[in-house]
Amino acid sequence: MVQVVVAVGGNVGDVRETLRRARKLIEAEETVHKLRATGLYRSVAMGADAGDSFLNSAWIFETSLDALELLDLLQRVENELGRTREVRWGPRTLDLDLIFYGEEQIDSPRLTVPHPHCWYRQFVLAPIASLVPEFVHPDFGLTIRQLHERLTSCPFVVAWSGEAADRDLLERLCLEFPRVDLPRVDSAGEVEGAEASLGFRFGNAGTMVNEPFWLHVPSEGGQQFVHDVLTAACIDVEPVD
Ligand code: AMP
Repeated sequence: MVQVVVAVGGNVGDVRETLRRARKLIEAEETVHKLRATGLYRSVAMGADAGDSFLNSAWIFETSLDALELLDLLQRVENELGRTREVRWGPRTLDLDLIFYGEEQIDSPRLTVPHPHCWYRQFVLAPIASLVPEFVHPDFGLTIRQLHERLTSCPFVVAWSGEAADRDLLERLCLEFPRVDLPRVDSAGEVEGAEASLGFRFGNAGTMVNEPFWLHVPSEGGQQFVHDVLTAACIDVEPVD
């Protein structure tokens, strides 16, 4: 039996009802045991086409399924409850992401675990932190509580490096995300005494700063990528009920 964490969200239709039905379908499986659900959290949707605000939650349960069988189950439930995927970051009836499968690290064509984007998404970390704050992220060796605190620190230090940096973009981001401090660094680590919560490397991925919280900005779609990451990191997430 493996303990797993699944992030749950949606922003189309009666989301509470969809999440309730999804949970029932998962709990009805003989391979699923001891499911605990966090409360509901509301976050403002990301991206111009995203639609209404999202409701997010997380489930923690034990399963005898292997990781790919569990992904199959999650995708079956998404499809059964009418998930649509027309637009990237777009409105979605139901999104089920496998965040942790025990402490395993899996990197296969269909599945990456721990979920590669979970560490900078407040709407993923906030619910999980409410149930298992001391769970240690296997890639980073930090607890969920520590990862969440990194995103809520003020100022929120986001380092960047690389000659290919888009200065106009960085200026616009400062205006759009007032909590974010965007210092340039040439090597990883300390930024004038403050540790960066995340870093962007512009340019060649081969010259990536060798630090776990750095992201390579793709040459195509880089502006959108940086914007999406910061939105997910800075988004307001509030408990509802
Ligand atoms: P999305 O539409 O953003 O939910 O992405 C779904 C796709 O991501 C599917 O094709 C999955 O095979 C793939 N995927 C990779 N890792 C994961 C994961 N940890 N949880 C859910 N889907 C994943």
